[in-house]
Amino acid sequence: MSVRYVVVCDRAGPHGVCAAQLHTGARSEDEATAAAERAGWEIHGGPDYCPGHSRAPRPAPPPTPIRRGGPQP
Ligand SMILES: [Zn+2]
Repeated sequence: MSVRYVVVCDRAGPHGVCAAQLHTGARSEDEATAAAERAGWEIHGGPDYCPGHSRAPRPAPPPTPIRRGGPQP
């Protein structure tokens, strides 16, 4: 029997828990953690987050300047 570590995302949203999983193929927790970090996961020994949820809350995009037509003052 072999043990494989699967990292799952712990982010819960309005539609339930994120379904993202990472099959690391690692045989130890340290290996699995390293593999997950290389793949962009956020692993802190607490809740783990997939790359899509690793930075929460996501920074808002910079405001886009509004250009108006016509002569400028
Ligand atoms: Zn996620």
